[in-house]
Amino acid sequence: MAVPMKVETKLKLAAACIIAVMSAIALVPHVLNTRVAGVMKALDTTILREREYGLLLNYLSDAEAAQRGYVITGRQEFLEPYHEALRELPGVRKTLGTNPISAAERQALRDIMQLTDAKVAYMKEVVRVRADQGAEAARALVDSGRGKRFMDALRVRIGEQETAYAAYRATLRERLDARSSLAANVTSIATGIDIVLLIAAALAGSNALAQRRKAEQRANDVSRQLRITADMAERRNAQLQRGGEMLHALELAETLEEGAEIVALYFGQLLPDLSGSMYLYRHSRDVLERKATWGGASDPEFVEPLDCWALRKGTQHFTVGDEGTLACRHAVQSATRPPPSAAPRICLPLVTQGNVIGFITAEGMALGHDDGAAERTWILQLGEQVALALSNVQLRVSLRHQSVIDPLTQLYNRRYLDETLKRELARATRRGAPLAVIMLDLDHFKRVNDTFGHEAGDLLLRNVAHVLQGAVRGSDVACRFGGEEMVVLLPECPLDIATARAERMRQEIRALKPTVNKDMLAVSASFGVAAYPLHGDTPEALLQAADLAMYAAKRAGRDRVEVAAAAVAAEPGRAGG
Ligand code: GH3
Ligand code: MG
Ligand code: MG
Repeated sequence: MAVPMKVETKLKLAAACIIAVMSAIALVPHVLNTRVAGVMKALDTTILREREYGLLLNYLSDAEAAQRGYVITGRQEFLEPYHEALRELPGVRKTLGTNPISAAERQALRDIMQLTDAKVAYMKEVVRVRADQGAEAARALVDSGRGKRFMDALRVRIGEQETAYAAYRATLRERLDARSSLAANVTSIATGIDIVLLIAAALAGSNALAQRRKAEQRANDVSRQLRITADMAERRNAQLQRGGEMLHALELAETLEEGAEIVALYFGQLLPDLSGSMYLYRHSRDVLERKATWGGASDPEFVEPLDCWALRKGTQHFTVGDEGTLACRHAVQSATRPPPSAAPRICLPLVTQGNVIGFITAEGMALGHDDGAAERTWILQLGEQVALALSNVQLRVSLRHQSVIDPLTQLYNRRYLDETLKRELARATRRGAPLAVIMLDLDHFKRVNDTFGHEAGDLLLRNVAHVLQGAVRGSDVACRFGGEEMVVLLPECPLDIATARAERMRQEIRALKPTVNKDMLAVSASFGVAAYPLHGDTPEALLQAADLAMYAAKRAGRDRVEVAAAAVAAEPGRAGG
């Protein structure tokens, strides 16, 4: 298979051809002109020589006429043309004698010169006779007709030469015509070839230029596209990496609040051209709460489910500006918020396993650009990942909750108490802060069960738990220690305040009057209070001190609060045992 010629090679080849043909064209006229010039010179020569022949005849005729006049008149002045002609004749003879054009002419010239010599000799004789012997003798000589014969013969011979010259000139003209038309034809053919070559070269050149321009354009396009693609790929890669980091952080999130903080932080970096918020359903599911905001968005704190089209539809909702599309109510201007921008906005529900846990809303001009679709796809991907990650956080929180919460009373369980007491005691020790423990046991609870049934006992337990939860601060921990025994942990709470709190709890429990099957239930509790550092510096010591104090309250008649005695810490008891 032939290797396709490069454009440059083609152009060089065309240029070489053009130069060759142009040179040939330049040479052709030169060669032909030289040859035509030869023909022209030959033509000139024939004309010149004919003229010389004519002159020869002329001079001889003039001389003859003068000689006749002298014969008749005998006057010397009549001989002047005769002498003139005889003076000129040698020049004419010399011209005709050199370079005869053919062998035939050379032969004819010999005859003509002989005849000329004879004629001249005859005329000289006549003139001499006239001068020496008189007019009669001279006339007799002339009348002999010898002179006339010489002239006639000369005329014939020179006429022959003229005929030959005419024929020769005709050939020369034909030759000239042929050479001229050959030159013309060759020149026009060469010019034609040149034009074709020039056009071809021009076409090839412009074609090559156009091709090169196109190729350059293509190369430029391709490289620009590649650069854009590479930039996008790099950006996407960086984003995917950041996205991966976000998911990893979300895996480690302990609470939904922590998860929301992570989302806010990373969304600001993952969607730098947009601003927005993430909403999650409240436990009641009647309203959604803004949990994360990035990019300086001014979204409302709460959104009702019907205010977002994405939540209604269960799928993404995209609005371009504010005309012609359904705008979500949460994105519409309110008295307390600045007017919404005309920027495109996207809302997407956060869905895991068919459950909508909230939604993300984001706005920014970038959503409407050429690559807005890519940006939207990216948000949807992020939304899916965040929904899954956050539902995992929720699941973990729930599992963790289940593992530390007592299902009947919703108080923390014994395990949680053990963990928390250990941690809080360590912190109290570090800070030199107090830590109090209240232990309580319901009085004669067995009787409640026996009289009103186990369910009535459960109801009372839940009521007591409610009292405890209402009586503690955020940092306090109320636990079901076991059965109808409960413990409240009060970090940074000194003994006297803890005792007062226990007293209030006692009263509130005493005031409980729940009814079961029209039976009014009532219960009381006995309290023991101990505190770090007075009653011990280990969880076991503290719990034991509180337990002993609680038993002291039982022994003292129940429905009362007892403070642990500093000295009783060493006495063996049930707690921690
Ligand atoms: P005391 O005043 O000496 O504490 O008398 P008491 O009857 O409360 O005696 P004790 O503490 O030994 O009895 C515990 C009773 O609490 C036994 C059980 O019937 C009851 N109880 C423990 N856990 C539950 C529970 O989860 N639900 C119900 N309904 N009763 C429970
Ligand atoms: Mg009891
Ligand atoms: Mg008990």
